[in-house]
Amino acid sequence: MEYLFRKWDDIKNILRYKYLLIFCDFDGTLTPIAKTPEKAVISKNTKELLRKLSQISDCKIVIISGREIKYLKNKIQLKNIIYSGNHGLEIDGYGFKFKALVSKKYKNVLKIIKNSLINKFSDINGILLEDKDISLSIHYRLVNKNNIPLVKAIINDAVLLYKKNMDIKVKNGKKVFEIMPPIEWNKGKSVSQILKKQQNLFKNKNVYPIYFGDDTTDEDAFEILRNKGITIFVGKTKLSKAKYYLKDTKEVVKVLKCILEIRK
Ligand SMILES: [Mg+2]
Repeated sequence: MEYLFRKWDDIKNILRYKYLLIFCDFDGTLTPIAKTPEKAVISKNTKELLRKLSQISDCKIVIISGREIKYLKNKIQLKNIIYSGNHGLEIDGYGFKFKALVSKKYKNVLKIIKNSLINKFSDINGILLEDKDISLSIHYRLVNKNNIPLVKAIINDAVLLYKKNMDIKVKNGKKVFEIMPPIEWNKGKSVSQILKKQQNLFKNKNVYPIYFGDDTTDEDAFEILRNKGITIFVGKTKLSKAKYYLKDTKEVVKVLKCILEIRK
């Protein structure tokens, strides 16, 4: 990966004339990771920046996150952008209205797992279950370090059989486990679908994707877009499929500001 600002002069020239499709993850990309998911705050400044970018012709914003769309809309409150929530299992906005169909059986399994976790975690502090209707997040950021192996063992135990039967899929993120439907769908597939639709809508334009993300679930999107546009990992790692990196969320805001300046 290369530091994005080291290549900025070249990139600036690409960004000047294309139809930009800017994908931004939410937690850890637009907002610093918070101690609890409810505490994540998107600054007024960043919101205003997204609003201005969304009003530029030939520029479209997509917010893509593991969160529910309901949550994203509520936090960002912008109309003419595309929201992709639940890791791409839901898409809404600008010609899109999509929610992955999941079976009754899956929903039942999700409920069983949730209830069993509530039960098993009753005497461990710091676990937060985020019920996102078609997926379930188990956050353990606030759990005492000494209890983490136990927490992981409990989760593994609760999902083992269902995972084996392919009733569910389990993904790890930053201090979170995600229980998802057992379908071939992820942020990469969602990005691909949104990109294709935009390319169809704007055939005469050169639709150019840019993707900002910070977590393991963003890797599928980095892979899909690697040779199609600009992929940017946010944070510290050497193991990402993105082509570029930025150090933190502040630098993401800086890049968005630069794009606004170029396109104003
Ligand atoms: Mg993230």
